[in-house]
Amino acid sequence: MFYLANTLIAAHSIHKNLNKKYQLQLQMQNLQEKINILKDEVKINTVAQDALLAKIIRYNSLKEIIEKVNESLILDSIAESLLDIGYSLVANNKGTCILYLVDPRTQRLSIFKTKKEDNSLIIKSKEGDIFDLWVLKHSSPLLVENIKEDFRFDLEKIEPQESRAISSLVSAPFISENKFLGLFRLDNPEPGFYSLDDLRLLVTICDLGAVALESGELFQRTQDLAIHDGLTSLYTKRYFLDRLKEELKRSVRQDSYFSLLMIDIDNFKNYNDTFGHTAGDMVLRTLSAAITDSFKGHGAIASRFGGEEFCIILPHIDKKKASEAAEKLRLKIEKTRITLRRKEASITVSIGVSSFPLDAGDEEEIIMKADKAMYAAKQKGRNRVIDA
Ligand code: GH3
Ligand code: MG
Ligand code: MG
Repeated sequence: MFYLANTLIAAHSIHKNLNKKYQLQLQMQNLQEKINILKDEVKINTVAQDALLAKIIRYNSLKEIIEKVNESLILDSIAESLLDIGYSLVANNKGTCILYLVDPRTQRLSIFKTKKEDNSLIIKSKEGDIFDLWVLKHSSPLLVENIKEDFRFDLEKIEPQESRAISSLVSAPFISENKFLGLFRLDNPEPGFYSLDDLRLLVTICDLGAVALESGELFQRTQDLAIHDGLTSLYTKRYFLDRLKEELKRSVRQDSYFSLLMIDIDNFKNYNDTFGHTAGDMVLRTLSAAITDSFKGHGAIASRFGGEEFCIILPHIDKKKASEAAEKLRLKIEKTRITLRRKEASITVSIGVSSFPLDAGDEEEIIMKADKAMYAAKQKGRNRVIDA
């Protein structure tokens, strides 16, 4: 009896222990599940935190660089800074990025600056491709994840345009007070390289950059107006005299030489009296174009020195060569036909040539010598070149 009672008590406590063990196991399982859920949450939070941190870093550097962009008024350095920002922050310095500006005269896009992973790449679409024209037409940003799958664009029109491989791209316009100034375009050979977040960042860069770009364009235009003559686009007399001073100093320093041409239109008053002042202005423009064309690529500095007088510095050109160049120009002008009111006309010029240091020791003297030579040409019957 005693034995039976003991066995029953033992069985009961074994059962109780087993039950407890089972309960504990269950609790452990519950706890493990909770731990797993918490671990997942921590993982999600870490990913979100990392993404947030990356965003903060992106936007912090953006703030810094936008400050840098606004530091300068020079269009070139503003564009350079904008490209640096976009290429590093949005494209991670991968693929190609292009900054286009709108030509105010033609309203067409024109390539202004580029940054490329592969420097040997040549960008063919100097006035933008179909994607850039889409951004220009719609005045809105564009994200193309895979150009092969985007129904908005005709693939056949894309491929012959560019030699580089493009699979994805983002592009955003620079717009200031409803004026479309240009656009910023990034592309990559991989599909899906850019996200919606990248596009948002690019749009922010462009919104902030547009103000700086507009100031830069305005500053450049003001500077251009100050140094270029409005009618002929040649340099103004004032700017020319500064350049002459510099050229003289440089020649002294380098023990070098340069020449000066003084050009005056023959009997221009008669021309104006016969055909009118507007026609005369056209002649001045034609003549200036001929001058620019003749000395292209020679480092020449050409100015409208007075009403119908032009003065040109020819760096590193001696007197003999300068006279030959002047004679060529004189002939070219003589042969140029100007059509006015269905009548063909032509003009001639008289040119004086002087050289530094052969004829003069300072800028006033070299001008005076060329001027005297030009008047000698007038006295000898016009339409000729005379050396000082
Ligand atoms: P010469 O062969 O002796 O140089 O004779 P010219 O008639 O060219 O010389 P002059 O100095 O007597 O006259 C220069 C003329 O150039 C006077 C003016 O009518 C004209 N002229 C000066 N500036 C302009 C301009 O901006 N537009 C036009 N259409 N004519 C101008
Ligand atoms: Mg004159
Ligand atoms: Mg004249």
